[in-house]
Order: sequence, then C-alpha cells, then structure tokens
Amino acid sequence: MRMMAVHAHPDDEASKGAGTMARYVTEGHRVRVVTCTGGERGDILNPRLEHDKQIIDNLLEVRRAEMAAAAEALGIEHAWLGFVDSGLPEGDPMPPLPEGCFALVPDEEATVALVKQIREFRPHIMTTYNEIGGYPHPDHIATHRVSMAALAAAADPEFHPELGEPWQIQKVYYDVSFGQERLEAIHEAMVERGLESPFLEWLRSRGERPQREATARIKVDEFFPQRDAALRAHATQIDPDGFFFQVPHDLEAEVWPWEEFELAYSAFPVTGMEDDLFAGID
Ligand SMILES: [Zn+2]
Repeated sequence: MRMMAVHAHPDDEASKGAGTMARYVTEGHRVRVVTCTGGERGDILNPRLEHDKQIIDNLLEVRRAEMAAAAEALGIEHAWLGFVDSGLPEGDPMPPLPEGCFALVPDEEATVALVKQIREFRPHIMTTYNEIGGYPHPDHIATHRVSMAALAAAADPEFHPELGEPWQIQKVYYDVSFGQERLEAIHEAMVERGLESPFLEWLRSRGERPQREATARIKVDEFFPQRDAALRAHATQIDPDGFFFQVPHDLEAEVWPWEEFELAYSAFPVTGMEDDLFAGID
C-alpha cells in the first residue's frame, strides 16, 4: 500500500514519524514524503557548521542534498511542493511574514499543488500536522490547512479535473512525535539511570499546555538506526551532540519503542488504539 507524509521543511520528516516510514518501507509499502518548502530560511543549527561560508552561501542546494540523503536513509520517495520557507518570525511585535512565502500563498494555489501529488501517488493513508501545526510555526500551520483541504479536494471530481482522476485517501493522521507521556517516560528513565535528561527544560516550559490524545502507536525500535541516519543527513539542521542523540537506544526501546499519531480522518469507523496506520484498509 501507499503512505504519503506531508511536511513543512526538509528535516521535519526525520524528526516526525521517520521510524514508522522506515518500517513501512521495510514491510514492502511505498512511502512518499512531500515537503512543502525548501527550508530556505532555516538557521544553521549545527555549531560545527554555522560559520562555514560555503554552506551559508548555498543553503538551498545544501538542504536539497541533505534531503536526498535522508530519503535514502529511510528508503522513501520524495517530492518538493516548491514553496518558499516562511521562516520563524520572532520578536514583539512579530515582524510581518516575508512576501511570497508559503504561509502567505493562497490556500487554493497550495491545495492544487498537493492535490496533483495525491492524485498521482494515490496514497491510502496520509500524515500531516494538527491545526496548531504540532508547534506554532507558520509553515506547519499552513501545512495542516493545505493537507486537509487537499484531502477533500483530491476526492472531488469537480476540483481541477486536469490534475488527474479523483482519489479518496482512507485515513489521515496527525503526527504526535513529542507527546507528553513519551517525554516523561524517557525523562524519568534517564534520571533513574543517572543520565542527564534532555527533556527537563522542555517539560518545564510546556506547563499546562493541553495534550493531544494519540490514537495509534507504531512500534519502531528496530528502525531507530534509520531514523538517526535520516536526522544526521540533515547536518546543517541537527546538532550531532544535541538532544536527538542523547537518549541511549536500549533505554528508548525499553521505555518508549513507539511513534504516536492521532487519527484526524477516516473513511470508515475506527475504535481503540491502533498499532498499524494501514489497519482496516484492504
Ligand atoms: Zn519544520
């Protein structure tokens, strides 16, 4: 079967659902990541590379090469939607979004681009972000909006018939990669082992933010090496000494071997906690 994962920037696919994708590829499914923007406005987050002039001057090309390497590490197919990174606006008051960026593209235009992808690849399931973008980056929120609009539009025979035969996706999931329960479980296990937990500040700063209810847990501990290889492939975006790599694999496999998702749409009734995103699809 076929799974499409819609992401905002190159590197999002490596930190959200990468183990699940590697698992499905290994099980013989086709998985295609669609990345909405080129990540042009990302900062260089790896201290070892942040003063590399060659990289700074060619960031778009560098990130394209990183994305190709990450796709290879996961065994997935990949497509660019072709929009421009909005950047993460910071400050008070917030500066306006840069002209022409993805978050300002009219929804119709972005929906057409994604419907074209959906009608061509014909995915049975799709993953995307929740309505607050998983975290409030304007491109992540736009990714949510466009994904949900494209879900309906792709199946509508009246919507741009020139884009291909209508296609109904069976199930859509929101990514829940950094669920509270997961962070707490790993945090506690790290402390118990006398290790420095990377999630202390994270858990503190979250406060009482309402938590999303995961409805699917996919066991992915066998695929931690592929996930990590995909993260490392995004060398400008991921600090190899950063929190992504501080949790020992054996500990993670013991206390939290899953990736979580929240069912956002299903063409048929689904009850209880699922352990397979393709469950119920013939
Ligand atoms: Zn992102």
